[in-house]
Formats: sequence, structure tokens, C-alpha cells
Amino acid sequence: MRRVSIVIPCFDEEEALGALFERLDAVLASHPGIAFEVVCVNDGSRDATLERLLAMQPQHPELVVVDLSRNFGKEAALSAGLAAATGDAVIPMDADLQDPPELIGEMVRLWGEGAEVVVARRTDRSSDSMTKRWSAHAFYKIHNAMSDVAIPEDVGDFRLMDRAAVDVLNALPENRRFMKGLFAWVGFRTATVDYRRERRSAGGTRFNGWRLWNLALEGITSFSLLPLRVWSYVGAFVALCSLAYAAWLLVRTLLHGIDVPGYASLMVAVLFLGGLQMIGIGIIGEYLGRAYLESKRRPAFVVRKVYRAGP
Ligand code: UDP
Ligand code: MG
Repeated sequence: MRRVSIVIPCFDEEEALGALFERLDAVLASHPGIAFEVVCVNDGSRDATLERLLAMQPQHPELVVVDLSRNFGKEAALSAGLAAATGDAVIPMDADLQDPPELIGEMVRLWGEGAEVVVARRTDRSSDSMTKRWSAHAFYKIHNAMSDVAIPEDVGDFRLMDRAAVDVLNALPENRRFMKGLFAWVGFRTATVDYRRERRSAGGTRFNGWRLWNLALEGITSFSLLPLRVWSYVGAFVALCSLAYAAWLLVRTLLHGIDVPGYASLMVAVLFLGGLQMIGIGIIGEYLGRAYLESKRRPAFVVRKVYRAGP
């Protein structure tokens, strides 16, 4: 019998769990030929998420609860779930039912037909806000223009991955994990299913603008060196321009003599170049900081306890 693990990161999701398991149970029951395992990762929730999950375990022998020692963020929680999952295929899914569990059947079918990865593509994101859609679109455009690994737009973490792909992800040594990028990076034969993104079942998004901005920075710095390298070219361009300007100044002085030097142009040049240099240093700082954190080799997450049902 094929074994499929569903990995669900949960951060303050006590209100969402009831509806989630109602729909998930129906889907799992309709595929008797597959042995499912549901791995819920409690990412340091401050509400009763853990208690709810543990209370459900007696009726859900397939439920495994991984309790992290604090909130590590969705990327780390997902990594913890992937590490704990034992299935022949793994499906990461959000707890808020924005990823419809009914798609699991179709994913498993395509996997049976030979796909090693089955991604779910949102054809309709009207449930997300305008700003969210616009900023996401801008992020994918910028990211894909800059990095070697293109992340397909409108594809989230909801997907099926064969054990082969999961093993590669688990073996990656990096602790700062931008999962969307890593998912795209591992490659493998990929199939696609389309779906309509639904509204969050309960509560609001766990990602405010600042968190999303940092996630986007993480994504770009993890997969592109362009922001670092571009400064050599900016520098070369500015140097060339100033050389031309210097030549022009020289000729003008020779022809017309010295006129009163312009305070304004001097100030503009100083401030502009100063600003440019600071941006360059800031970007080097972004990378240096990440290299520093990575060099410490801290684990991406800390597990307090794993709860498995059964004897
Ligand atoms: N999540 C998590 N840790 C966090 C933030 C979010 O495990 O620090 C989980 C959350 O419980 C949910 C999933 O990640 O299952 C997606 O979060 P959310 O729905 O808020 O994101 P959105 O759909 O708005 O992108
Ligand atoms: Mg959501």
C-alpha cells in the first residue's frame, strides 16, 4: 500500500482545526487504497492549537503532532514537518483550508502516473487582497528575473512531492529555508493541477507586510547574487560618467578659464554617490548577515516533542 503524508504547519490555528479535519477526513476516507499520515507541526502557537491536536489523536490514529519549542516561522515549521513525515509522498498544506484537501486525490493520481512532483496552481486568487496579489506578482517578476531558479507564479507550498524529492530537501544543510525556492530548486518531473484559492476558514493571515517583505528578501538573497554583483557595474558606470565629466570640465576650463564652481552640482554629486554607496554597503550587509547566521550551523527548528498515536 502506498503511504502519503500530509504536512500542516499550524500557528495559532485552534479555530481552523475543526473545519480542516472535517474536510480532510472525508477526503482521506474516500481513498481507502492509500495509507495516510497527517503531520501537524505546532509552530509555537499561543492558543490551544496543541491541546486541540492532541485531543483529536484518539479518533485520528493517522495524526502525528510535532511540537516545536517556539515559533520558528512557516518555512521552518514546514521543514520540521518534512523531516518527520514518513510517507512515500508528502503533501504540505496550510491549516486554513485555503488549499482545498479535495485536490489530494488528483495529486495522488498524477503521482501514480509517474509525476514526482505535482504542484497546485491557483487559477483564481480573488480571495486574496489586491495589495497581496499585486505584491506577490511583483515579487515573482523580480525574483525570476534575477535568479537562476525560476519560481512558477501562482504556485504555493501546496503540492505533492515524491520521497526522492523530500529526501533531497531534508538533506539540505542550510538553516534559512525559503521553501518555495527550494521546491523549485530540487526539480524532478512535475505535473500541475489547477484550483481556486478559497478564503481563509477562520482568523486572518499570519503574514503582515513586514513579514512578507522579509520573506521576499530571503527569497532573493537565497537564490540570486545579482544584488551583490550589480554594484561593480553601477560603480563602473558612475566612474565612466565622471571621467567624461572631468574631461569636459578640463576642456571647458582651458577654453573659457575658471568660472565660479557650482555648489549645487557638487552637493548633488556628493549626496548621490554617498547614498549609492550606502545602498551598496547595506546590500552587502544583507548577504554578510545571512552568511554569518548560516555559518553558525544552528538547526532550522527545535522539536520539543513528537506525539504519535497508538500504543
Ligand atoms: N504558519 C506557521 N508559522 C507562522 C506563520 C504561519 O506555521 O509563523 C502557518 C499557518 O498556521 C498556516 C500557514 O502557515 O497553516 C499559512 O499561513 P497563512 O494562512 O497566515 O498565510 P497566507 O495564506 O496568508 O499566505
Ligand atoms: Mg492562508
